[in-house]
Amino acid sequence: MHHHQMSARAFEAAREVIPGGVNSPVRAFKSVQCDPVFIERASGCRLFDVDGNAYLDYIGSWGPMILGHGHPEVRAAVAAALEDGTSFGASTWREVALARRIVDMVPGIDMVRLVNSGTEATMSAVRLARGFTGRKKIVKFDGCYHGHADGFLVKAGSGVATLAIPGSPGVPDEVVAATLTAPFNDLEALEALFDREGGDIAAVIVEPVPANMGVVPPDGDFLPTLRRWTEELGIVLVFDEVITGFRLAPGGAQERFGVVPDLTCLGKIIGGGLPVGAYGGRREIMAQVAPDGPVYQAGTLSGNPLATAAGLATLEVLSRPGVYDLLEERGRALAEGLGEAARRHGVACTVQGIASMATVFFGQTGPVRNFDDALRSDTGAYARFFRAMLERGVYLAPAQFEAAFVSLAHGWDEIEVTVQAAESAFKELAG
Ligand code: PMP
Repeated sequence: MHHHQMSARAFEAAREVIPGGVNSPVRAFKSVQCDPVFIERASGCRLFDVDGNAYLDYIGSWGPMILGHGHPEVRAAVAAALEDGTSFGASTWREVALARRIVDMVPGIDMVRLVNSGTEATMSAVRLARGFTGRKKIVKFDGCYHGHADGFLVKAGSGVATLAIPGSPGVPDEVVAATLTAPFNDLEALEALFDREGGDIAAVIVEPVPANMGVVPPDGDFLPTLRRWTEELGIVLVFDEVITGFRLAPGGAQERFGVVPDLTCLGKIIGGGLPVGAYGGRREIMAQVAPDGPVYQAGTLSGNPLATAAGLATLEVLSRPGVYDLLEERGRALAEGLGEAARRHGVACTVQGIASMATVFFGQTGPVRNFDDALRSDTGAYARFFRAMLERGVYLAPAQFEAAFVSLAHGWDEIEVTVQAAESAFKELAG
């Protein structure tokens, strides 16, 4: 049995001074019905909690740690940056170098602006799309999560889905009214929406492969058709690649699927574990951003030295030959291993994954193609599985509607240990 006394004590102290005891809702482990563990440190693919328990980490800080924790080159880059000062609020060469690398790697990005989180990236991209088109409405897909800006808290995924809240108090009705929603992978519904409102829509924002309702790959014709229709209607197509960027391929989902959006939002990996986001795209649109253009957006810590150093080092490692093949193989081994283990023990579930991320949807008998499908998952079974895995030293996302992330630091041995743990957990669930 793992002991969690120190975590329990920390959580109690946290709840007195932090809402829910956490700085981001899913960390509270609410939907998996146990108390959260407090982390002391991490190394490679392992997390160590304040009670001295070790876990194989499949959250990877929710995506950023694609190289694993404490990668020597990232540490060296951050340490070097630290020597020179942590923030100047003025321009540095590192920002240019990071922007250059992003522009060179991501097909749809001619110019890019650095911000401090994915939320800032999506919020700014939508403002820019509205400024560029002079239109007001936006379209998002049910179950996609784009951060917590007002206009995105409509049928959102991730923690919003986990807590089963349709929107959020505090978001004005007028803002909600400007957000139209459609089911993912449903071109018929999209066509009807475009027929009705096409001329008023500034932007369609989409996770090209949603990972915030669990991992849901797009049907073959979904993204190409979305690209064609938005172009015809003069709608700015925004790919939210905060998760998929630099994970599905060096150039993200847009490279993998050969569909180039007008704007792209990035985050997570490009900060190598420090707070960063970015939005970029076609030169003509980016030229509208202040100070060259009238669309305002700014940030005291934007492009700060530590974050850009960590991001640059991360992208440098990811640019080396063979890295993505390795990530792909290990991700597939994990997904297949989990699927086979579940089948052997007669646990009903669908495992879906792409590249180095995957989700086990419990209680499913067929593919999960959209949010309605995902919501039919057996979240109680997921909670039992999560707790059984935690007890066996495997740290999965503490909610059904999320992805498991594999890093370069996850070796074959660790994947095998994980699948064995899953065997034993499924057996317990089935028994
Ligand atoms: N977009 C997507 C696709 C995300 O997954 C997230 C966060 N998980 C965000 C935006 C928001 O990013 P942040 O939490 O850095 O604000």
